[in-house]
Amino acid sequence: MTKQIQAIRGMNDILPDQTGRWQQLEQVIRDLVANYGYSEIRMPVVEQTELFKRSIGEVTDIVEKEMYTFADRNGDSLTLRPEGTASCVRAGNEHGLLYNQTRRLWYMGPMFRHERPQKGRYRQFHQVGVEAFGLDGPDIDAEMILMTARLWKTLGLLPYLTLELNSLASNAARADYREALTAYLRAHQEQLDEDSVRRLDSNPLRILDSKNPAMAEVLAKAPKLSEYWDSESRTHFEQLCAYLDNAGVRYVHNERLVRGLDYYNRTVFEWVTDSLGAQGTVCAGGRYDGLVEQLGGKATPAVGFAMGLERLVLMLEHADNQQLPRSVDVYIVAAGAEAELPAMTVAEQVRDALPSLRVMLHCGGGKFAKQLKKADQSGAEVALIIGANEVAENKVTVKFLRRDAEQTTVHMNDVSTVLSTLV
Ligand code: ATP
Ligand code: MG
Repeated sequence: MTKQIQAIRGMNDILPDQTGRWQQLEQVIRDLVANYGYSEIRMPVVEQTELFKRSIGEVTDIVEKEMYTFADRNGDSLTLRPEGTASCVRAGNEHGLLYNQTRRLWYMGPMFRHERPQKGRYRQFHQVGVEAFGLDGPDIDAEMILMTARLWKTLGLLPYLTLELNSLASNAARADYREALTAYLRAHQEQLDEDSVRRLDSNPLRILDSKNPAMAEVLAKAPKLSEYWDSESRTHFEQLCAYLDNAGVRYVHNERLVRGLDYYNRTVFEWVTDSLGAQGTVCAGGRYDGLVEQLGGKATPAVGFAMGLERLVLMLEHADNQQLPRSVDVYIVAAGAEAELPAMTVAEQVRDALPSLRVMLHCGGGKFAKQLKKADQSGAEVALIIGANEVAENKVTVKFLRRDAEQTTVHMNDVSTVLSTLV
């Protein structure tokens, strides 16, 4: 036998029994972002490698070891996008969407990172990203967080999620803090793991993010970022908290929340859960006031977040509180060769009259009992049965498969009226 070709590790097929949940989630998100006045933007999945190096940062995990980078045929270095913000800003600059105006954008699509695949962590995964440009106040930060909170409520996930909040303050304040933190950690270097020692020079703030229990104590006693906040950033943070308090959105101030990408300043936040094991962050974001300029645009404040759809789907499966829509409402059984042509006519009539119904026509013939079994397995609410008798009298038998109701036979022209109760 010929050897089968398999999918690439960490790049998943989403199979038909899962796509219903995905579509439902995507629709809820589409409605949500529209509800807040955001417009969709679609960017290519491949960009110049330089874009991610310059935005995400050379010494981040993503750029150092997670990118799918390859040489194009002419030698250009290209990369499959590991996230969307950099592309969104690139596109915004390129098409003049950000200059001297406010702009609220969102996108959805696959991202690629070469990580060790495990539950909730894949090499191709999907994010929804939401970005707002041209606004520097805490009101937009707050509104974005309210939008995410509303999403969790709609999905029934709010009880499983905690909002963690921090401020990375200004670049100058962060530089001062970085110095103090590095000095402290150097003085306790023997308590750091290898990875953290390596980061002492390159990215010391990321050490705060370490989950290594052996380092818990040394990190707990480290200097705190909030002690170095500049006064504008402190006010921004306090106002953001006031907005959240006013809206009844609960949060915890996590002094060690720093995020893994270099472009953030001031507000950073994550929604985390303990229901997904180690992959606990489902949504993360913050302010990146310097990025537009860093990528060649005019200085433009910006804030945004991204959420991982695979992790949300896993949570929805856990919570199991979501009634998935039926994939088939009506299954049409054509018993006998003479029924096949009228069955197709009936199917099309029902689709004309009730376009929101999902109508599956039995194709390929076969015994009546077998067809009825297929109808049942399809999950349909109703089977429309067309056999020799029905054809002779221009009628259709309506059989409710999920409820206790008498089977009825109606005239072909009345089928849609009977089915309209399903809509
Ligand atoms: P983590 O700490 O879990 O590695 P991250 O900080 O690298 O996450 P971001 O770059 O902030 O993640 O991406 C935003 C969201 O995208 C994450 O919160 C998560 O839900 C999702 N995500 C990131 N990487 C992956 C991945 N490899 N597989 C599935 N989802 C992912
Ligand atoms: Mg990561």
